[in-house]
Amino acid sequence: MSAISSGVWDQVLESLRETIDEESYSTWVEPIRFVNYADGELTLRVPSIFFRNWLISNYQDQVEDAVTGFAKRDVSIRYILETEDEFATFGSNGHTPRSDADEVDLRSDGTPHPSILERIPLNPNYTFSNFVVGESNRFAYTAAQAVADPQSRAYNPLFLYGGVGLGKTHLLHAIGQQLMSYGSHLKVLYVSSESFMNAFIEGIQQKDLSHFRNRFRTVDMLLIDDVQFFMGAERTQTEFFHTFNALYNAGKKIAISSDHPPKELRELEERLRSRFEAGLIVDIQPPDLETRVAILRRKAREFDIELSGEIEIYIAERIKSNIRKLEGALTKISAHHSVTGEPISIASVRAILGPLLSAEEPRKISVEKIQLAVCKFFDINLHDLTGQNRSRKFTGPRQIACFLAREMTDLSFPEIARKFGGRDHTSIMHAHRKTEEEISRDLSKQNLVKYLTKLIKDETSPSASK
Ligand code: ADP
Ligand code: MG
Repeated sequence: MSAISSGVWDQVLESLRETIDEESYSTWVEPIRFVNYADGELTLRVPSIFFRNWLISNYQDQVEDAVTGFAKRDVSIRYILETEDEFATFGSNGHTPRSDADEVDLRSDGTPHPSILERIPLNPNYTFSNFVVGESNRFAYTAAQAVADPQSRAYNPLFLYGGVGLGKTHLLHAIGQQLMSYGSHLKVLYVSSESFMNAFIEGIQQKDLSHFRNRFRTVDMLLIDDVQFFMGAERTQTEFFHTFNALYNAGKKIAISSDHPPKELRELEERLRSRFEAGLIVDIQPPDLETRVAILRRKAREFDIELSGEIEIYIAERIKSNIRKLEGALTKISAHHSVTGEPISIASVRAILGPLLSAEEPRKISVEKIQLAVCKFFDINLHDLTGQNRSRKFTGPRQIACFLAREMTDLSFPEIARKFGGRDHTSIMHAHRKTEEEISRDLSKQNLVKYLTKLIKDETSPSASK
């Protein structure tokens, strides 16, 4: 388990001192105060909004890199202002401070309790109405809504899974918020698996699990986030199994999130897996282009910035796999915009987002790359591959190279034909069709094509080209 204490924050500072020049360091880093770290969220206190914007637009990458390095996981950073107290936090997107009323006080007996669980509020921005629905997440959204109906007993448990930054936490919070809106008689508890485990350990240390158990087993709805965190933690899993049963048998509801479906959580106890599988398992896929644009548009409005259609597409085409990154992009653009006052243009967006974009920008695979890889694999030279020699030693590899060129690039048959010695484009079409047919009935051909495809992709990936 990794955690950042203020001691570790000191280490982060040390590493920043090495990468940021002295004067900037004392101006922009020294005034930052460590407040808290929990569940992958680091809270820092800064002197002013201007300071925060400047920090984000100039040093965010360095701070994030250093923090992630020490925490060994993805960490999101929240900034709060010196004038606000610890719980009136707002996101790095500058949302309005959260008021006490939004905090979900889950305590049943009103007594103060030292557990960190007290500190987990539902994020007021994570509601159903703020969730942009597209093909990739529609089913998850609908299922979550059904679960958030207090009358319904459907889909118990609901198991949401998907990659990082695709809205799992958002949907769990939305379920919680929706249920809370029906009245305070419903007890809803949202907890990350990390917190569940920490609370469990705390209970063990204090030799008293009754409070812990009472807390988890008396709710109407338990929302438990990122259960992949339980992998390898046997005792926590056992405890969770009993928590699950207690709630389930009492007719209470449970919603779970994870990065993988139950069957792929390898170190999950079998009996827990079968509990998870007894409900509804829904995945969230990365959003398509239209959904990404819709999300950008919605968030831009929240950030109070205006993006032209061209800029929306420019960003949405480059940041594909993670909605948190889309938000991060907007945070940076809006911070930069408010510091410099410059209008937002493609050029400025490119400059501001540089590293964020190139990380995801697909490398174009060229016909030349494919030809080289095929030549290397069959140990022939380029001249023979693209030439007219009809020896079988060359026609086989040529046919495969033509097929791959068509499959792995956006080029048309005539364009590919030009790169193969200017032959007639129908010969490329023929090679393509023939390979397709061979693949469908010949497993070894299929494997060969798969292998070469992977080889070419790996060689084209950003890390290979360093
Ligand atoms: P996960 O838990 O799957 O890693 P989160 O729920 O934390 O992802 O989502 C990351 C960020 O993206 C959050 O700020 C969330 O509000 C936002 N987000 C994710 N999906 C959507 C969506 N469909 N519409 C609007 N915002 C979204
Ligand atoms: Mg999450």
